[in-house]
Amino acid sequence: MTEKNEDKYKQFSNKLLDWYDIRRRILPWRAAPGEISNPYFVLLSEIMLQQTVVVTVIPYFIRFVKKWPTINQLAQADFNEIASLWAGLGYYRRAKNLHETAKIISTKHNGLIPNNKEVLLSFPGVGEYTATAIMAIAFDKKANVVDGNIERIFSRLYKIEEPLEHSKKKIRTLSNKYLPCNRNGDYAQSLMDLGSLVCIPRTPRCKSCPVIFTCKLGGRADAGLYPKRLPKKSKKQRYGIFYLLIDNEGSVLFRTNKNERLFANMDVLPSVGWNEEKENFKTSPKIISKDLALFNLDWEILETKINHVFTHFKLDCTVVFFRINKKMTKNLLINKEYRFVKKKDFNQLAIPSLINKILTTFEDKIY
Ligand code: SF4
Repeated sequence: MTEKNEDKYKQFSNKLLDWYDIRRRILPWRAAPGEISNPYFVLLSEIMLQQTVVVTVIPYFIRFVKKWPTINQLAQADFNEIASLWAGLGYYRRAKNLHETAKIISTKHNGLIPNNKEVLLSFPGVGEYTATAIMAIAFDKKANVVDGNIERIFSRLYKIEEPLEHSKKKIRTLSNKYLPCNRNGDYAQSLMDLGSLVCIPRTPRCKSCPVIFTCKLGGRADAGLYPKRLPKKSKKQRYGIFYLLIDNEGSVLFRTNKNERLFANMDVLPSVGWNEEKENFKTSPKIISKDLALFNLDWEILETKINHVFTHFKLDCTVVFFRINKKMTKNLLINKEYRFVKKKDFNQLAIPSLINKILTTFEDKIY
């Protein structure tokens, strides 16, 4: 590293840290200036922030630490309660991983988050980014934390022409050179804040940028076009049928989704399909006995379609509705995964946002 470059890197981190001291975002998991972050708060927030934006995570984080102020308390919690507080945050596998990680830390590490990246990487749900962020923010270790915000900043600083999908390694090598010798946690968070507040996706606010002096695209009209991307593949369309089955007391039939990737351990409406072929209303969820021939009943196919977008596909949902009488409820062969739940008790369930969307759309059917 030449002396000139070294000065450039130092100047970059100094300017950024000065800016951070004044402009930093106040976030509930962050330590006050000069204080050390609570490693449990860092771990919890980093897991919640995987694929989820800060503004969405804040109320969930506050509810979690109010209910479980320490990792030992989280480890001892009933998973259904965790899933219930997680509901709406999406990617529910993270809630399961978080609980498993908390149990391991509580039992094998005396309730202390390990100050060791390799050990962190061995925990469920903790990947390269999360482990690196914890090392920097919770333990102030020199660690090259690179997320989408930081990739955007470096591809603009260097005006990288290759699509981001092909330039990630290059960006990692470049960003590594800028790591300062101290204030590692603050430096990582200052880059995150710069990406969220100033070097934003389409319209970077270069006039307010503390590192414009070294940016190849600083102040240029085309800065927002970086990082370059490969053309997007369109998401596959899938179709599903959801069953809104209501008993004569107004309770809705729910199923607890066991051991499945999507909506794992969440409370869902019975459904079939989820295929690329349009599902006709001819198949029944497994709970409904053929003998009872419920499909010969007068199901109402609700007109309003619900559309939901997942990471890899779009789902077109048809909802069918039936109000079942007491005698039929008794006869219904329901396995233990199924139960009728009153509307007033929905808040005790872990209901994914898609199911919430269906229940809200058709709430006039539920009394
Ligand atoms: S000068 Fe503009 S494009 Fe460059 S890093 Fe700052 S905000 Fe981003």
